[in-house]
Amino acid sequence: MTAMPQMVGLLNGLGGAASALVAIAEFYRLLGEGTVPLSAVSTAILGSLIGGVTFTGSAIAFAKLQGLITGKPVSLPGQQIINIILFVCFIVGSGLLLINPLNTTAFLGITAIALVLGLFLVLPIGGGDMPVVISLLNSLSGLAASAAGFVVMNNVLIIAGALVGASGLILTEIMCKGMNRSLPNVLFSAFGGAATGGGSAAADAGDKSIHQIDAEEGAMMLGYARSVVIVPGYGMAVAQAQHSVRELADQLTKKGVDVKYAIHPVAGRMPGHMNVLLAEANVSYSQLHDMDDINPEFERTDVALVIGANDVVNPDAKTDPGSPIYGMPILEVDKAKNTIVIKRSMQPGYAGIDNNLFYRDKTMMYFGSAKEAVAQLVSEIKQL
Ligand code: NDP
Repeated sequence: MTAMPQMVGLLNGLGGAASALVAIAEFYRLLGEGTVPLSAVSTAILGSLIGGVTFTGSAIAFAKLQGLITGKPVSLPGQQIINIILFVCFIVGSGLLLINPLNTTAFLGITAIALVLGLFLVLPIGGGDMPVVISLLNSLSGLAASAAGFVVMNNVLIIAGALVGASGLILTEIMCKGMNRSLPNVLFSAFGGAATGGGSAAADAGDKSIHQIDAEEGAMMLGYARSVVIVPGYGMAVAQAQHSVRELADQLTKKGVDVKYAIHPVAGRMPGHMNVLLAEANVSYSQLHDMDDINPEFERTDVALVIGANDVVNPDAKTDPGSPIYGMPILEVDKAKNTIVIKRSMQPGYAGIDNNLFYRDKTMMYFGSAKEAVAQLVSEIKQL
């Protein structure tokens, strides 16, 4: 489950590559017959553009998510200008091809430009924006399939591709809303650029103090609370702790505690990640609450229990304009009467930045891997 996003990225890329190859193959087939009709040239241009950008863009997204290359934004000086020049060259090459469809140099040229554009569009996008990029590339892979459908005149491919393209666009919009960002903003500004990475975040933490608790203390806080909101994140997914988390919620409910789950749209590593995991553990859908619904409730919540989440509960996103995630809406666990955070260490999350939440007076750190830590809580609560 945790490697799903890079898997999806890779599959998007292969879809794009397949569409570009279909466009190229069809172009050369028609070339062999001596005439390339204008309609075939237009669809070949579209197929190579969308397919090429999707292929290399997805390959970079895959490499970033898999940790093969840095997740930080990488860009050349004057990157925007270079991209604009490349796009203009693409338009000129396409024009030459439309004037003379037998001009293979122009066709190969625009295909190469599309491949380079994919690299240059995704490399400067920082880790924090990856959810949006993955869903956009997903949408593009659908459009590429649709373009391939036009090339080979296959209605099923056209319709299926259009469906993937449209649903991907809707998902992209949902992810943008979740990050409080507009699509142009994601594509053309390096969000997450100042991300510090684990080492420096740990160094920042040097002189600040934290409150550490063990399973017994955690169980007392939870067991005697009236309301608990569970905030799952990537750590719960890695540890596969969803079943233990449900058991914990069941135990608390038995003791008369009101238990809810707060779901951030970009928690984990893929859209809907938390919903899927909790559904797998048979958590009732009615217990899951979106960010907008649950945020006003934190003030009245006795304990917010953060399980392997970090960036999505980082208050700097609201208060520190210098933070790379400034502006991203968060789950406001800092407003709860008490917060317990389960994670293994003080290491940062995906955005690579320190989290001020951990140093607040009302925050208790309970260190451990999510599955074992939650299981210990369950056994302590049973003894209360
Ligand atoms: P984060 O990545 O911010 O933090 C996860 C935390 O989990 C880490 O700090 C880590 O701390 C902890 N952790 C790791 N393993 C375990 C374990 N076994 N047990 C307990 N804790 C563990 O996760 P969030 O869910 O808060 O935020 C998601 C981030 O991912 C956002 O920045 C989002 O933009 C990004 N993203 C989201 C995508 C999506 O579609 N949802 C796609 C791509 C990126 P420690 O090492 O100390 O245990």
